Amino acid sequence: MAYGLVDVRILQREYLLAISRAITAELDLQDVLRLILRAAVELVAGKAGMVALHHPETDSLRVAAVYGIPAAMVDHFAPLLRDIPPVDTSEPEAELTRRLQTIARRSNLGFTQMVRLPMISGGEAIGLIYVFLSGTPYHLPSEAASLLGSFAEQAAIAVKNARLYDQVNKEKQRLDAIIQQNADGVMILDRSLRITVFNRALSRMVGRLPEEAIGQPHEAVFKWLLLKTNMDLHEALANGWPLPGAAHLYVEGDLQRPYDEHLEAADGRRVSLGITYAPLMDADGRMTDIIANVRDLTRYREEEALQKTFISVVSHELKTPVSIIKGYAGTLRRQDAHWSPEIIQDSLAVIEEEADNLTDLIDSLLEVSRLQAGTFNLEVSEDVQLDRVVENTARKFGSQSNKHTISVQFPQDFPPIWGDERRLGQVMNNLIGNAIKYSPDGGEILIRGELHPQHVTVAVRDSGIGIPDHEQHRIFQKFSRLDNALSRKTEGTGLGLFLCKAIIEAHNGRIWFHKNPDGPGTTFTFSLPRN
Ligand code: ATP
Ligand code: MG
Repeated sequence: MAYGLVDVRILQREYLLAISRAITAELDLQDVLRLILRAAVELVAGKAGMVALHHPETDSLRVAAVYGIPAAMVDHFAPLLRDIPPVDTSEPEAELTRRLQTIARRSNLGFTQMVRLPMISGGEAIGLIYVFLSGTPYHLPSEAASLLGSFAEQAAIAVKNARLYDQVNKEKQRLDAIIQQNADGVMILDRSLRITVFNRALSRMVGRLPEEAIGQPHEAVFKWLLLKTNMDLHEALANGWPLPGAAHLYVEGDLQRPYDEHLEAADGRRVSLGITYAPLMDADGRMTDIIANVRDLTRYREEEALQKTFISVVSHELKTPVSIIKGYAGTLRRQDAHWSPEIIQDSLAVIEEEADNLTDLIDSLLEVSRLQAGTFNLEVSEDVQLDRVVENTARKFGSQSNKHTISVQFPQDFPPIWGDERRLGQVMNNLIGNAIKYSPDGGEILIRGELHPQHVTVAVRDSGIGIPDHEQHRIFQKFSRLDNALSRKTEGTGLGLFLCKAIIEAHNGRIWFHKNPDGPGTTFTFSLPRN
């Protein structure tokens, strides 16, 4: 039964209200389309309906919502979508009626009539609404026709909105991903300086999870220990930042990493950060957000500190032998003194030894710069007799110190190995040299070679002052010397173990140390793969 004019008017108001509410409530597009479809079907006392949307990429119509059609039957309606221009609905009327009859027969749904409404928005064909009727032919009153027209218009708007929303959403996701994946720290603050965005790189830098930082005031996360510029964000704002022409603010400082409860160890390390704050302005020139780019400068600071150490260590280590050589040479050259042959011999021996020290130091420095420049290459041969290299080095040191006894133990069948003989000699030189230097009271130094199926090891054991276990990583770094009385008294640049590690690793080996379990002192061990 069709509705009377008054009913139509009431329905019109109700449906349009419901539909516009659904659209503004940002309901799912499917729900909005189904609502519109139901309204259209009920208005003309139809049986069922279907919305097909036009897909510009393929220039085809596809079913987007159905009402009163069982899911299994939807495929039967495909002929209604084929070869039909979506806008001009009048042309193939006869053809469509024929198709509908076929569908009605096949699906057994008894439809006898069909109303098609184009969905058009801004001149663009968005799709079609189909309403199916049964029984005797029905003539659409003009009121109902115009109402159906406005339903179609609403549906077109809903689809357009949904597509726009989808597009905006995709764009937002893309932007979010760009911010999140950025290798630099990125943070966005609102006008009251609360953190609204905190990306992963920044989270890593300051040791806080994004969820711990988001919503926090800026100063709760960025507690500066030391500020290099004399202005922080708050002061800058108080001073009228961002002034025109002064759009960016650069702040650099040291931050104490917060205690991380998830880790056993308190990670209270310092991080040095450089932050650029840029204001985001609206059309009226008011600041809406602040976007901050954060860079970790810790490495850079460490490099700077290292550079300083380098200069002071090297100048000291270079100056000492030079001034000793100069002193002895000057003394020997004095015209007014007559030196005994023994004194002359001893003095020349000192000069020679110090010249050797200088050569060693220069060699080490050259090796370090080769490592840094990436031009450190091994000069390998297939058959390095490691036991012989060890014995030669031990003999050299043995003749220099009578406080220490140096013994070498290698199995008879110790095989030749693949490696750079000169550099492996440097490794032994430093390990045995350290063993002597850092056992000032003398004692035994034992060097043992061992054979394993895949690799060989060489261990240098002393009974000296020992090294705390937690220095495991530090002492292999360049210029690192332990802070003890002996280091201050003995010569050294702290390059020896750094180079040992680089050389051993270039041979695909490993080097480490451990405290002697059964007495004082340390054992340094390295392993090298067998051929
Ligand atoms: P260089 O070898 O450059 O002349 P160095 O001996 O001080 O100087 P490394 O060989 O790298 O430098 O050793 C680093 C630091 O590790 C030393 O300064 C010392 O404090 C400590 N160390 C090294 N070997 C031993 C050891 N056998 N016993 C105790 N401390 C050691
Ligand atoms: Mg050394």
